[in-house]
Amino acid sequence: MKNFSQRIENIKESPLTRWDSEIKKAMRNNGNIISLNSGQPDFDVPSVVKEKIIKVANQPNGEGNNFYISVQGSEEVRKAISLFQKEVFDLDYLSEEIILTNGAKEGIFLSLGALIDPGDEVILVAPYWSTYREIINFFGGKVAVVSTNKDFHLDIEKIESTVTKKTKAVIINSPNNPSGAVYIKKELEQLAEIARHHNLYVISDEAYGTIRYSDIDYCSIASSEGMKDRTIIVNGFSKSFSMTGYRLGYTFSSVEIAKAMLKIKSNSTGNTNSFFQAVIANALLDHFDELVVSYESMRKEFEKRKNFLCKELDELGVEYVDPEGAFYVFVRIPSKSGMNSEKFSKYLLNNLGIAVAPGIFFGDDFDSYIRISFASSIENIKEATRRIKGII
Ligand code: PLP
Repeated sequence: MKNFSQRIENIKESPLTRWDSEIKKAMRNNGNIISLNSGQPDFDVPSVVKEKIIKVANQPNGEGNNFYISVQGSEEVRKAISLFQKEVFDLDYLSEEIILTNGAKEGIFLSLGALIDPGDEVILVAPYWSTYREIINFFGGKVAVVSTNKDFHLDIEKIESTVTKKTKAVIINSPNNPSGAVYIKKELEQLAEIARHHNLYVISDEAYGTIRYSDIDYCSIASSEGMKDRTIIVNGFSKSFSMTGYRLGYTFSSVEIAKAMLKIKSNSTGNTNSFFQAVIANALLDHFDELVVSYESMRKEFEKRKNFLCKELDELGVEYVDPEGAFYVFVRIPSKSGMNSEKFSKYLLNNLGIAVAPGIFFGDDFDSYIRISFASSIENIKEATRRIKGII
């Protein structure tokens, strides 16, 4: 048989997906494992969304959205998302600047597919979600990793000194998975200055945008002067509304970039799930306030868990930075353990029945970290830290 494509040779399966399968296997043998590894909220779908699911399903043939629709997404849902983003994040996008995607993940794939030629460099701010790295590799781009400062915020000087003639784009993710950092306006302004000066695109993954804990001046880099046309915002309903499996995401970009991305989408996935677009359009247009209440109550519950977990981590005396958003704490492994992040995570899984994610999955510089997810109950967090207290 002939070889598979070089593109496939260039990429690896997502380490988080692989690790998740290992955890599930361990769970089948041991019913007492606590998962603090989850990358998805553990809440129910908002009740107004459930109501709309039933309503749309019962519509007559055709109106039930069983047919192909616009590859870009229905006009109705794009208008509804445009209103939502204006209200919640003060972002102004017209429906022609929006594409409905199969989760934020497809948004990242389309963005890099539209921008990257083989040999182009993409600056990746680390710690990072590994999908960015693999998709850059898939398109033949070169990953230029730039680590953040010790608070996990942008190191602007390092970013600027990494730019070369071949640099095409920078990828940022705020609120950040895994560090929980939320970039402030000032640092985004500084990054925008670099992007304008060196003529770079920015892919801004804002998937955790509604999950924030501090009162900092949150905004998108796209709102900086001259940045709207050079930024692709990637977002979705997975994290804010606990709907990871429904696979509904979206991008905001200039019309020109949207057209480029649609060339890929129209020849690959086609339209994103039409049924669920109708559900979300109905829910956003009829029950906007209830949806805001629902993500806000989820955020408050996450905040309680975060505070509880951080208190426990303080008692354990481990090093971490209090997360400003998302639902993870990136914790330094005590050096006396003498283990790297995969060994330590395996030790926690096999000896203490606690599942966390190894820091190495988020960049080579982070092999002395683990990511603890608080998308799990306070009881679970309490029991996990009780088990750890015995060994640290
Ligand atoms: N972006 C980040 C930073 C993530 O952590 C994840 C999922 O874990 C995604 C995007 C993917 O989200 P979606 O379910 O919308 O594809």
